[in-house]
Amino acid sequence: MPASRSSTTSRRPAAPAATASPAECVLLYSAADPVRWRALLDRETEDGREVDPEWAAASRSLLDHMRRFCAPGRCRHRELSAYFGQEYEKESCAACDTCLGESDELEEGTETAQKILSCVARVEQRFGSGHVVDVLRGARTERILSLGHDRLSTHGLLAELPRPSVVGLVFQLIDQGILDRTTGEYPLLRLNARSWEVLRGEREVLLQPVKRRRRKVTRTAIEQESWEGVDRDLFERLRELRRKRAEERGVPAYVIFGDATLREMARSRPSTPDELLAVKGVGEKKLADHGEAFLAAIGDASP
Ligand SMILES: [Zn+2]
Repeated sequence: MPASRSSTTSRRPAAPAATASPAECVLLYSAADPVRWRALLDRETEDGREVDPEWAAASRSLLDHMRRFCAPGRCRHRELSAYFGQEYEKESCAACDTCLGESDELEEGTETAQKILSCVARVEQRFGSGHVVDVLRGARTERILSLGHDRLSTHGLLAELPRPSVVGLVFQLIDQGILDRTTGEYPLLRLNARSWEVLRGEREVLLQPVKRRRRKVTRTAIEQESWEGVDRDLFERLRELRRKRAEERGVPAYVIFGDATLREMARSRPSTPDELLAVKGVGEKKLADHGEAFLAAIGDASP
């Protein structure tokens, strides 16, 4: 299922310790997840088993919290704070995908939804998502040919999209309550009142493109600032040197120098002990212990 997941990233700077670096958080989410979880919960309660109604209600509520958190359009930081009972006062956190404007919508959400819903209508609401997706993608499986579904007007309407994307879109419609999926071993897709509103053009639908690979994300302001003018190659070489020296001494790397200090060295390229001493995180003791080695490495790398 990973192929059909959309991913969302948010970045927040780590706590302002001496070795602080920006942290990246990746949220893997597919609309199929809550749909499946809800179906499992429904089955628990429908099977006639003794299920604590409070437990079932609490589980549904938790699932809804998670869905709201994963849904597009809201600041992730605000949602997290609200969940823990805190009000988030800032207008923008300037770090999550929503606030950075990285989450996007399918341009033709309503039209795409109409294609999917028409296909469910054309197969007379008697098939599951797998078959509907195959018809939409214009597949010529034995089943499709024997049923004559290759002659339906909706056959191949979404042929340009990869299969995981179409599956993802179908599940977004189910998740939004625009399409129903029956419970049981072989769930079928069914139209509901909202489906017909969409088909009649009375309801707009927002759909998210299903991404298979994570896009490169925009850097946060804080990260851009801290990497501004830094020679990345030199930074990597200094890190390597730090690793070696830490290993030789049997100490953790940050004891030698922190990342922020290495970054500053790779930005300002000090060439004398005095210049090195001016870098934040370098004191007399560290200058004596490591100054020569680091100055040599910076000198070697000079253009
Ligand atoms: Zn935000």
